[in-house]
Amino acid sequence: MNSTPNVWLIGAGPGDPELLTLKAARLLADAEVVMVDDLVNPEILQHCPQARLIRVGKRGGCRSTPQAFINRLMLRYGRQGKRLVRLKGGDPCIFGRAGEEAQWLRERGVEAGIVNGITAGLAGATQCNIPLTLRGVSRGVTLITAHTQDDSELNWAGLAAGGTTLVVYMGVARLQQIQQGLMAGGMPADMPVAMIENASTPNQRQHACQLSQLCAAASAFKLKSPAVLVIGEVVNAAELIQSHSEPSQLTG
Ligand code: SAH
Repeated sequence: MNSTPNVWLIGAGPGDPELLTLKAARLLADAEVVMVDDLVNPEILQHCPQARLIRVGKRGGCRSTPQAFINRLMLRYGRQGKRLVRLKGGDPCIFGRAGEEAQWLRERGVEAGIVNGITAGLAGATQCNIPLTLRGVSRGVTLITAHTQDDSELNWAGLAAGGTTLVVYMGVARLQQIQQGLMAGGMPADMPVAMIENASTPNQRQHACQLSQLCAAASAFKLKSPAVLVIGEVVNAAELIQSHSEPSQLTG
């Protein structure tokens, strides 16, 4: 990159304000305008008391700011040379549209920088003492969204056969498809699943069950969005690991 961009797409992390990167904090402190998504913990905005705040929530199904409006606003500030931060929950490149937004801006002559954040799936697993990879148990992790724009189905059989730990985002409204798809795809009915709601926040809740019980268990637990699912043998390892954090015990 030749010069420092004045527009930044930045990950705010999963909720715990201490999980913000130092680079994100520095760019926030320097920002003139901050456009904030609604999964961002408001405490993080302490890093940019001087900035003009624009809230641009986009929660699925709720009242939200149209993407075209967000894009145009970013472009306007970008072209004015304003120091703009677009702050997103978790990591901006994991189901965060950073790729689309950066490309849209680049096509119009504005280069955006991107700063990683800790994505909710990684933070949620760690908060529950679940190692997403574990020698002899899981040699990989697959991050998937259960929600697609065209309602097409994922390749459940491929995911079931892959043998990696699955981390499912945006799955709360599609638990039935996940359970049925993976079981029909050959995943064992007793595969452990952890559901982790509001990961890394004081409101975190977690629960473990078997795949065949996913819908029933989530309903009894009253699982709500935002939540991630961790599906794989590694969930069993959680009990083996000493906890150093408060919200750690998986009930199940
Ligand atoms: N870019 C974000 C993901 C945005 S998609 C990231 O990297 O984390 C929104 C989905 O992320 C939610 O439906 C939920 O599945 C997940 N999510 C975001 N924050 C969460 C949190 N604190 N706890 C659990 N899941 C979360």
